[in-house]
Amino acid sequence: MPNHNGSSRRDMLRTGMMIAAGAAVASTARAQDEKIAQELVQYQDQPKDGQKCNMCAQWVEPNACKIVAGVIHPNGYCVAYAPKEG
Ligand code: SF4
Repeated sequence: MPNHNGSSRRDMLRTGMMIAAGAAVASTARAQDEKIAQELVQYQDQPKDGQKCNMCAQWVEPNACKIVAGVIHPNGYCVAYAPKEG
């Protein structure tokens, strides 16, 4: 006779692992979704008044931004520009 308790514990563990894996995927998707659309911050691919993305605290080499979605040009600019300290 199969050990019913052992089997259901395994099922619970398996279900728990599937839920955890699903949550990790959902969390990754959410993190990507949380970036702001370029249009919303009036992103442009040219500097403005000497301010440009590769001088911004949000800049990520070689062509991304911590808060704005999509490909970001090092010489771009948006209204969320925040100069790097130092
Ligand atoms: S200026 Fe805007 S798009 Fe460019 S790095 Fe800074 S926050 Fe990101």
